[in-house]
Amino acid sequence: MSLTSKSIRFALEITDPNVIFTKDAEIEPIQGVTSLVYYAKLSVLPERCPQCGFSDRIVRYGFDQERIIVPSFSYRPTYLKLSCQRFRCKHCTAIFQNRTDYVRPHCVVSEPVRQKVLFDALSNRSLTDISQRYHISDKTVQRIIDEEAELHNYHQTTWLPEHLAFDEFKATNKMNFIWGDSDHHEIGSILPSRTSYQITKYFERFSLQVRQQVKTVSLDLNAGYINLVPRLFPNAKIVVDRFHIVQMVSTALNMVRVQVMKTVPKSSKEYRFMKREWKVFLKRFEELDAVRPTYHSSVGYYDTAVNLIAMCLDLDSDFRTAYETYQAILSAVKERDVTALERTLNNYYALNNRMDQSIKSLKKYQEQVSNALRYHYSNGFLEGINSQIKKIKNTAYGYRNWANFINRIFLERVWFRPLSKNTVN
Ligand SMILES: [Zn+2]
Repeated sequence: MSLTSKSIRFALEITDPNVIFTKDAEIEPIQGVTSLVYYAKLSVLPERCPQCGFSDRIVRYGFDQERIIVPSFSYRPTYLKLSCQRFRCKHCTAIFQNRTDYVRPHCVVSEPVRQKVLFDALSNRSLTDISQRYHISDKTVQRIIDEEAELHNYHQTTWLPEHLAFDEFKATNKMNFIWGDSDHHEIGSILPSRTSYQITKYFERFSLQVRQQVKTVSLDLNAGYINLVPRLFPNAKIVVDRFHIVQMVSTALNMVRVQVMKTVPKSSKEYRFMKREWKVFLKRFEELDAVRPTYHSSVGYYDTAVNLIAMCLDLDSDFRTAYETYQAILSAVKERDVTALERTLNNYYALNNRMDQSIKSLKKYQEQVSNALRYHYSNGFLEGINSQIKKIKNTAYGYRNWANFINRIFLERVWFRPLSKNTVN
């Protein structure tokens, strides 16, 4: 038995029964490229006039041929030349034509190809790659992405999550601002700049009533926008990111250690241990081995990590205090012990080393820092999103237009659903 039009319909993903093939497919040049062309027509008498609603005086009024890009099975572009019946209503003189869900009005890309374009866009291909693959222009690929983004209502200003996270990252040549939903780990939006002016202008598009619903904002302390939060979100508590708190004191401890290293000979075992095994200083003291000696190639003998650290701390009492401060903060953060954290910050006295600066910042925002231990929110999930955005930037190159870039990011993370208010905790 020979193939029937049913086979072709399956192949081209045509489900509309009103699309009828009129003759065999042909190979012909289209815009200078040898292409495979199918011929079909769409001719169904409409029940009534879409303009006046009458049904008794509709007459056929010629055909309109559309050239639609359809799924292709080789390198060859494949088209469907679809003749659509036109009609005229003698009541109101309206002219209209048959439509099919196989292709959107005023579009030359069939729905199955459109789905494939979106699918390819999800996998981080460049616009040029996708457009060449489906024989359409870059602009058409971007338009398909934009239309999809529009459906997901990414740019709404009527709702905000209760728990926000703020962060910044470098995607283009300058720093960008990003905010997300801390409960669902979704992107809210990305701004091309992180200035107070831009951020304020952006959030003021949401009504005060909407902004009053926000309960927490998680952020890093080094960001200037911490001062914007009370005015923009009058009921929100600021939560400094836990990882960021630890990072502030670990950076300081590293710098103090390097200072101490400069005071001892490079050949000393203290110097060699501090240089080669610096990561051991950042580990939680409780987790270090105090009993079983292991071989340390930095010093060349068996000893416990605790002994070796003690040996180095003996070099300088301020180094010791900085280490103890770091350990106390690390433990307080890990165990969510607000009292211990506040005690450490309040009992700290200046060491005249780099630790002073970090502790001063933490004390200045003590309430917001303590909130990190009271709430489980953090902006850590934005890190993952930021690195994905950098990947998009590197592979889906050619984004000079910010809005296009953002729509692409959202498309690759088709997860933002502003209507879902169900929290996970
Ligand atoms: Zn009419």
